[in-house]
Amino acid sequence: MMIFHVVTIFPEFFRGPFDYGVVGKAVEAGLLQIRIHNLRDWTFDRHRTVDDRPFGGGEGMVLKPEPLFLAVESILPERTPDTKVVLMSAQGRLYSQAVAREYACLREIVLLCGRYEGVDERVALHLADDEISIGDFVLSGGELAAAVVVDSVARLLPGVLGNEASSVRESFSSGNPLLDCPQYTRPAEFRGWKVPETLLSGHHEEIRRWRARAALEKTARRRPDLLEKYWKEKGSTNEQRVAHETDSPEKAHGHS
Ligand code: SAH
Repeated sequence: MMIFHVVTIFPEFFRGPFDYGVVGKAVEAGLLQIRIHNLRDWTFDRHRTVDDRPFGGGEGMVLKPEPLFLAVESILPERTPDTKVVLMSAQGRLYSQAVAREYACLREIVLLCGRYEGVDERVALHLADDEISIGDFVLSGGELAAAVVVDSVARLLPGVLGNEASSVRESFSSGNPLLDCPQYTRPAEFRGWKVPETLLSGHHEEIRRWRARAALEKTARRRPDLLEKYWKEKGSTNEQRVAHETDSPEKAHGHS
């Protein structure tokens, strides 16, 4: 059973986000544990100070190293290959489904949430195994980023999704280099917009082919970068690409 630790100065922030949907159910079922830790528990002065002014001057405050080091040393007294300490940071390596898959193999993960102007660099250099950004934008704290990591890793753990197959086929997954195919549900016609005929046909082979093609088209339209990367990895020539994409995309992309 995987254990997620979150270290934050706002433990109350996490009332709610993990109580719903598949993650909430998985916690209830004991498939994973989420433990929220108050960084101030590792301070010893009267004001429980976690921050201080930046050396060299400048705006705002910076999280001090000591409380974070003490927190990690008490939460994870033994660091092993199946544990990881991750600093949430706008300057980290970019988070992705591939990183989520990597983390889903861990036994225990500690997510450190920064605040203010950030965190003393010695935490990134000498405490964290990994520094992770959830995108090229700046949040006011690491809490939302940590919630994103917990949610996306939790749903990859065995038993969390009702249907194991759904995390294999969906966007960015290992079994699928493309975006997931578009989905439709009832009614078959809504405000004059019809569901593609093929999906109503009950013809499994045709539905499979339609989905493969639709996924390919949507990826080309919205995320050409994903296709480009996929083809590069395969080392295909332009002629091969055209042949693949006009012939049978479901075979070419292993999207079955
Ligand atoms: N001065 C920093 C930003 C600090 S924002 C800079 O310019 O890089 C305060 C905290 O929010 C950070 O310490 C980090 O924990 C969190 N944070 C901000 N943006 C983030 C992002 N894109 N991904 C993950 N964490 C982020």
